[in-house]
Amino acid sequence: SIPLGYFGGIGLASRHGILVKGSNFLDVMTELTTVVSDKTGTLTQGVFKVQEIKTSLDEQEFIQTVAALEKSSTHPIAKAIVEYAHEKTQTPHVEKVEEVAGQGLKGIVAGKTVLCGNLKLLQKFNITYPTELEQIVDTIVAVGIDNQYVGYLTIADEVKDDAAQTVADLKKLGIETIMLSGDKTAVVQKIADQLHISTAYGDLLPEDKVQKVQELKNAGKRIAFVGDGVNDAPVVALADAGIAMGGLGSDATIETADIVIQNDQPSRIVVAIKIGKLTKQVVW
Ligand code: ADP
Ligand code: MG
Repeated sequence: SIPLGYFGGIGLASRHGILVKGSNFLDVMTELTTVVSDKTGTLTQGVFKVQEIKTSLDEQEFIQTVAALEKSSTHPIAKAIVEYAHEKTQTPHVEKVEEVAGQGLKGIVAGKTVLCGNLKLLQKFNITYPTELEQIVDTIVAVGIDNQYVGYLTIADEVKDDAAQTVADLKKLGIETIMLSGDKTAVVQKIADQLHISTAYGDLLPEDKVQKVQELKNAGKRIAFVGDGVNDAPVVALADAGIAMGGLGSDATIETADIVIQNDQPSRIVVAIKIGKLTKQVVW
């Protein structure tokens, strides 16, 4: 085959803000059966705003404690909380912060052991919380201090402008979109309904995402996975075409990816498929 067409394809893609790290990946894009996508930062803007705070503590103390811990994280949720707390006084002393992948953070704030993350994180550390928290249809950051549940805050995010159109365009090309997320199932289902995605899973750990993609591969599907987070690197590596969002994306994911979308628009996936098809014609 004549590689000229492929070089042309990579060049054309790059002019559309799509970085392709090898001509074979343009080929893979023409063979896809399934686009598997992360939610936060990929189909949604990944720009969260703190909405509501419910706590048994003094609200100021609560937000200061959470923000102190979240300062060490680059997660979009962490950024929203730090920004929200910003104006408000000094921060307490923090040590031994650990990121619990796809769940949240654990650390010592002013001498107390603080957990903040999703409900799974609290479960993991045997902290009981009011069951009505399960029903909330927003992303929750729940907080435990010294093994006691002390409250939560909700944060909200919006779908990207071109996300629904992307899902529809892929469907027209015969490609199914599946959403996998570490966020609460109730939130994931709400976003899936908005975007007309019929298959979506929430409450997943990073390793659950890997397993889902492996199952799809075993079933003979040709898969692109698109994600942005640190935790997405393993699943990006496993997919036939691993795609990273370049703007908000973590370095690890961008490095592992076969294709990087520089402006973070999911619709570029469709553009990449079209360029792949065009390139193939030129090669022949
Ligand atoms: P997604 O799969 O939607 O991109 P992630 O895997 O990045 O989500 O995170 C999954 C969930 O873990 C988040 O929805 C949130 O509940 C929790 N989480 C992750 N990182 C943090 C953090 N720094 N602070 C609080 N919660 C977090
Ligand atoms: Mg993500």
